[in-house]
Amino acid sequence: MVVSRLRSEVRKQLKENGHEADWIISHATGMSQSDFVMNPREVTDDEMQKINEIITRRNSGEPLQYILGYTEFMGMTFKVNEDTLIPRQDTETLVETVVTGLGSKKVRVLDIGTGSGCIGISIAKLCPNAEVVLLDYSDAILSVAKENAELNGVNVEFIRCDILEEIPKGEYDIIVSNPPYIETDVIFSLDNIVSSYEPVEALDGGFDGLMFYRRIIEEVAKEILKEDGEVAFEIGYTQGDDVSEMLREEDFSNIKVLRDPCGNDRVVTARLRSGIFHSI
Ligand code: GLN
Repeated sequence: MVVSRLRSEVRKQLKENGHEADWIISHATGMSQSDFVMNPREVTDDEMQKINEIITRRNSGEPLQYILGYTEFMGMTFKVNEDTLIPRQDTETLVETVVTGLGSKKVRVLDIGTGSGCIGISIAKLCPNAEVVLLDYSDAILSVAKENAELNGVNVEFIRCDILEEIPKGEYDIIVSNPPYIETDVIFSLDNIVSSYEPVEALDGGFDGLMFYRRIIEEVAKEILKEDGEVAFEIGYTQGDDVSEMLREEDFSNIKVLRDPCGNDRVVTARLRSGIFHSI
């Protein structure tokens, strides 16, 4: 079949996911999207079979990123598998905030709950003077992050640590994190396609969704942030007030809640107060 016909066929078969047709055809054939128009050719039987297999899996609900094994984030390619959450476009707001703030400063950055590594690796790529450390609780997850660091040609460090159990070592200027922030009940009550494929551990923020913010703000940050160090969190769009309040109670200053391009609260940043006179 010639590729132009195939595109509309695949779009139809994918139903509500029709917008993914070009990505699938490119993956299976090696043709770029401009090739579809500028250098169209017949699609081989093998390629057709590959495409059909992908469509079948996709139509049963599996996210395309897991089927193909990679996704795009901040214009870079990241490998993903069932051990890691699929990077969301929402999270680009967090990365853009941190990258804009850091510029070319020489700072040490800790990415807590790095997963695929997409946040820390993007920061390392875009802020060449930042020393970035990627932290997660399992070797399986860190091996995905390692592959992604290599794939994107950045030099970063890795720490395996379950922050709910222990405080990581080191001193940092910045803690950045997109921790699990969905309320436990919500994950299990929805007929939730997300949690049937993606790791629940990467989503479950405890009964109120705030468990990881609480731990980082109340315990971890105090131990490992330098004086005047800063935190930057991704948050669920209803969590801005709660996380800000937690930061205020723990003596952070300059607390800001920032929105994503859809207008939802998405990022909170704050600075750990320093100096003995600040609260007088
Ligand atoms: N934004 C993700 C979702 O809605 C959740 C990510 C997280 O818990 N950190 O599925």
